[in-house]
Formats: sequence, C-alpha cells, structure tokens
Amino acid sequence: MLEIASVKKSFGNVVVLDGVDLTIKPGEVVSILGSSGSGKSTLIRCINGLEKLNGGRISVDGFDVSKPKELGEARKRSGTVFQLFNLYPHMTVLGNITIAPIEVLKRSRAEAEKEARELLASVGLSERADAYPGQLSGGQRQRVGICRALAMKPSYLLLDEVTSALDPEMTAEVLAILEKLAATGTTMVFVTHEVEFARRISDRIVFLEKGKLLVDLPTEEFFHAEGGMAQPRVAQFLSKMR
Ligand code: ATP
Ligand code: MG
Repeated sequence: MLEIASVKKSFGNVVVLDGVDLTIKPGEVVSILGSSGSGKSTLIRCINGLEKLNGGRISVDGFDVSKPKELGEARKRSGTVFQLFNLYPHMTVLGNITIAPIEVLKRSRAEAEKEARELLASVGLSERADAYPGQLSGGQRQRVGICRALAMKPSYLLLDEVTSALDPEMTAEVLAILEKLAATGTTMVFVTHEVEFARRISDRIVFLEKGKLLVDLPTEEFFHAEGGMAQPRVAQFLSKMR
C-alpha cells in the first residue's frame, strides 16, 4: 500500500501541498489531474523522498519516506519516470537500465543485463541496447526511462507527465506501453494531461487544486455530471482539455 496522509509541503511561505490524503492499493491505476502549479510534481517528489515533508506522513509498503533508515526501502518500491528524460548521457541504454539493479539490488551483471534486454524487447527497443541516450528519439528515451524504472521491480510505478515533451506519434508509442503495463496489473500513479487516456486506463482519478485533493473517485464517477463534474473546477479543467 502507498499511503499519503495529511501531507503538507511549503516552499518558503508558499503552501504547495495542503493536507493531501491518498491511498493507492496494489494493482490500482490512479491518475492525478490538476492544472499547472496545483502540486502534482511536488507530490510525486515527496513520495520519492526528493522533497522533505512539512507535515503528515508518506509510507510505501510500510516504509516511511521521512525516516532516513527507511527511505532506501521506500524508494526501491516506487519507480519513477519524469517528464524530462533523465537518463545518464554517458552510459548506454543497457548501462542506464542495469546500474541500479547492480548497485542497489546487488544483482549480477549477467542477470541484470538479461532482464534489461527482456524489458527492452517488451518496449520494442531490442536493437538499441548499445546506443547512447543522445542517439535516441524522445519517445525511445522515455521508453528506456520506463524500462529503467521497471528494472528495479518496483511495487509502484510513478509517472510524471512522461509524454508532455513528446510529439503525438511518440506520445502514442509511450502510451501504448503504459496501457500494456496497466493491463498486466502494474500499480501506477499517473500524472498526466492526457485526460482521455487517463479515463481509459485508470481505476480512479484524483484532482488536485491548489495543493488540496478536491476529488478522488472511481474513473466513471469522476466524469459523471453528479460526480467529479459537479465540482466547478473539475468541469472547467475538463472543458479546457477537450
Ligand atoms: P505542472 O502541471 O505545470 O507540472 P504541477 O502541478 O506539477 O504543475 P508543481 O511543480 O508541483 O506543480 O508546483 C507546485 C507549486 O510549487 C508551483 O507554484 C511551483 O512554483 C512551486 N514549486 C515547486 N517546486 C518548487 C521549489 N523547488 N521551490 C519553490 N517553489 C516550488
Ligand atoms: Mg508537474
């Protein structure tokens, strides 16, 4: 279980997360929607222990991200892919995918490479194992980023606008992979502006507004006139997106 309870985060005197409660169960696909600046990326960074909380608690399968001794275990369980491709430019695709399994999980190189090649095959990139990130398209890099996160066998895959820097064709490539992962039971927390895609793959949709979770509903209820759409801010947001 990924448990976010009463989480508060401020930068200086700007309150960015204002008492967020959210629980993600194994197997769920949950999308986080919300306008720019609502705190979505900050929430993902808090789950990852990249930001220190000012209040509340986040635990990943029982490991508290605010406790230095537990952060490592929490992080192993939450694989993250960011909007901007953060691959190591000086390492090959294979090197990028295998470094954490080898260094953090202490897997043998042979085993890590075998698994990395299987992951690359699953995203249609078998041929690019020895390429460097600079030699790949944006969509290819993002697919490698997904492989790199999955190589750690995380309990939760966190995706922060992984397609927003991509053109429509590359976006479609990446979304197809995510759809396949969702269908095979990967637990995902998906920050996105792709509303129609979120509707298709999510079990639940939550809506962040100025650091508060305004809505947390099963997907179909979210889009229902008497559900999420009854919230003026949600209706306004969705009308802008279509
Ligand atoms: P977008 O849809 O544009 O990605 P978002 O919902 O992900 O937006 P965040 O990136 O979480 O929004 O930012 C929320 C607020 O926190 C913004 O007002 C932003 O300026 C502020 N913020 C984020 N990181 C920092 C930081 N390191 N220092 C100061 N302010 C920050
Ligand atoms: Mg963001």
